[in-house]
Formats: sequence, structure tokens, C-alpha cells
Amino acid sequence: MVKIIFLGPPGSGKGTYSSRIGPELVIPHISTGDLLRNEVKGDSELGKKAAEYMNKGNLVPDDLVIEILKKRVEKPDCERGFILDGFPRTLNQAKALDKITNIDMVINLYLPDDILITKLSGRRVCRNCGDNYNVTDIKDDERGIYMAPLLPKKEGVCDKCGGELYQRDDDKPEVIKERLEVYYQKTKSLIDYYTEKGILKQFNVNAVPDIMVPKILKLIRSG
Ligand code: AMP
Repeated sequence: MVKIIFLGPPGSGKGTYSSRIGPELVIPHISTGDLLRNEVKGDSELGKKAAEYMNKGNLVPDDLVIEILKKRVEKPDCERGFILDGFPRTLNQAKALDKITNIDMVINLYLPDDILITKLSGRRVCRNCGDNYNVTDIKDDERGIYMAPLLPKKEGVCDKCGGELYQRDDDKPEVIKERLEVYYQKTKSLIDYYTEKGILKQFNVNAVPDIMVPKILKLIRSG
């Protein structure tokens, strides 16, 4: 039983890592971004409200996100634990989470801003299953960061389900800048919060997921 949070700026790989590490540990990967996008797709009342914030790169109000998250972690598949991706994003959400459940470990993914912007601009997502790809090729000898593109076998088509790949509205350059600013203003305080609790682990991302995933698993298994 392990309950993990992945923290880190947009583009640091929270979604990719949690979706690959969840199955390894046989626990679900819960992304509030995905939960919200599903509401938007289904055109629910909550989805309509959330879309106004999401399209601008702003955070959806805490009460909406906390409600959605609480419902999800109360489902039976979360009994053995879970990985949270994109939640909490504010101190208020972290405190609400403490009332819902106990977190064992927080992994803070780090990547420099300029690399994040390049990576996010190159992200392509499957409209159907949410699988992630990337068309950018990052080779930074000075900082030792190497990220080859993660391309689908057929251009524009998801390998897993055959769905159409697209660029999220909030992965466009103007919105990316806003999302990073929001992250630094609101989400960074969480690093202090979980450091004080003694459960934060730092992880520098400097290569592609095939290389990073075993290292993150080792970090998790080392307790
Ligand atoms: P993500 O897929 O995690 O990058 O989230 C996409 C967008 O969904 C964010 O830019 C926010 O607008 C919204 N969102 C996701 N998770 C949260 C959260 N925990 N609190 C507030 N807004 C969120």
C-alpha cells in the first residue's frame, strides 16, 4: 500500500511517469487534469465551469477540484494506494487532501524552465486515450539533458488505440508561460509544505522515460 504524489511544473513529466509507474506498483494513476478534461468533453456543468479557467492556463477553483478528487480516491481501486498527478496544486488543496487521506511520499520532478517550454510545445496527446507523445528533440550537452522525441509509429495516430493525436489548447506558447507562472506562484509553496513533513524526495529529470522510470521506481522502493 503506497500513496504517492508527483509534484513538478507543467511539462516535467508527471503524467508520463505516473502512468508508467502506476501499473508497475499495481495502483491507479489519478490525474486531475484528465478528470477535468473528461468533464469538459462530457459537457457537464462542472466541465463548463472548469473550461473557462483551463483554456486560459489558470487553476480551476479549489472546491471543484477537491470534490472531483475526493470522489475518485474513494473508489475501490484506490484501496491499495494511488499516484496523484497534478493534485494538489495549492496549499489549500494539500490541506484538504490531508483530511481525506494520508500521503506516504511526494516526488518532486525538476527540469529547467526553457526545457519545459520546449517540451510542452512539442507535446501531442491522444484525443481518445490520453497517451502522450513528443515531437521535440532536446540535446543539451552543457546541462547533460538528453530527450529524444517520443514519436508514434504513424504520424498523428496513437500507437495504443489508433486515436487522433492533437496539441492541447493550453500547450500553446502564450498559455504555457501563464501555466508556469501560476505554478511558481501557487504550487511551489507545496514543496516547503511536504519538505517540512519529511516526505519530499527530489528527482532531476534529464533523460527519456525509459531511462528515468527505473530510477524513480528505485527511489520509491527505497522508501
Ligand atoms: P494538467 O493536465 O495537470 O496540466 O492540468 C490541466 C489544467 O487543468 C490546469 O492548467 C488547470 O487549469 C486544471 N487543473 C488540473 N489539476 C488542477 C488542480 N489540482 N487544481 C486546479 N486546477 C487544476
